[in-house]
Amino acid sequence: KAKADGGSRCVFYNKELHNRFARRILLENGLRRAIQERRMTLHYQPLVNPETNRVQAVEALLRWPTGKGTFVPPADFLPVAEETGLMIPLGEWVFQEACAQAARWASGPVGPLPVSVNLSGTELRHGQPLRTIREALASSGLSPELLVVEICENALLEEREAAESLFRELRALGVKVFIDDFGTGYSSLAYLRDFSLDGLKVDKSFVTRLPQDSRDLALVSAILEMARALGLETVVEGIETPEQRQAVQGVGYTCIQGFLYSRPQAPLQLEALLKAKNF
Ligand code: C2E
Ligand code: MG
Ligand code: MG
Ligand code: MG
Repeated sequence: KAKADGGSRCVFYNKELHNRFARRILLENGLRRAIQERRMTLHYQPLVNPETNRVQAVEALLRWPTGKGTFVPPADFLPVAEETGLMIPLGEWVFQEACAQAARWASGPVGPLPVSVNLSGTELRHGQPLRTIREALASSGLSPELLVVEICENALLEEREAAESLFRELRALGVKVFIDDFGTGYSSLAYLRDFSLDGLKVDKSFVTRLPQDSRDLALVSAILEMARALGLETVVEGIETPEQRQAVQGVGYTCIQGFLYSRPQAPLQLEALLKAKNF
């Protein structure tokens, strides 16, 4: 009897493991094919100046269309991309595509609109980010001032030296450098002291409970004040309600990014939005 139970338990675990494994293989193969067939796309989310209500910049965000009008979430496929090495060619494509799009905007009716591109720890460690970015700028003809690179705090932890020199070189080119998800890492203040930076993006986990949570409010306010004193630009991410906007708007100048203004949009939708709202 006990043996039979053990046996079935074993089958259960194997099945569980098997399902996870099968799902991963499916994701990996699907992603590989989507990249090859050039089906990956970028959506763009506005960063808005709350005083003027104008779009200051947009952030490029990877999207994997399923073909049924939905998208595989980045949280599902990015870990697979990172583990399989696919992140390197994918990240290179992201820079190429985002720079090409920004260059088209700059020379068309939209006009110059800075584009932020995310760089992951894997790209920093295993890729050649400086070369990738130089090539994307050169082939698109985009002015470096219109490119912002966002690196999340956790990536800095592991690749401190690589990041320091990359930041210096990017800024020497005229490209701006922001720390993403600021406040979630382990030594945020040391980064502000040691790194050559243009700005930071306050992580949305600090915003979710605003305006009720007085601790979060105190933290966001302190981060924004500190950034201002250091001459850094700031963006607060994840603003979904007018109350949240109100709470951070009082605290000095900062850009705001969140569903309150707009979700990430395909380029054509973004252009329509810019026109309609006179953003
Ligand atoms: P992130 O760089 O912090 O990007 C912001 C994320 O917050 C995006 O999720 C965006 O859709 C979401 N967001 C924006 N406003 C709101 C809001 O008001 N409420 C809520 N709940 N969420 C909001 P997304 O597009 O799913 O991307 C997740 C993460 O995946 C990004 O976080 C970034 O770390 C990574 N990622 C996305 N695209 C790329 C890429 O092209 N390259 C690299 N290396 N990483 C990328
Ligand atoms: Mg980002
Ligand atoms: Mg972020
Ligand atoms: Mg984030």
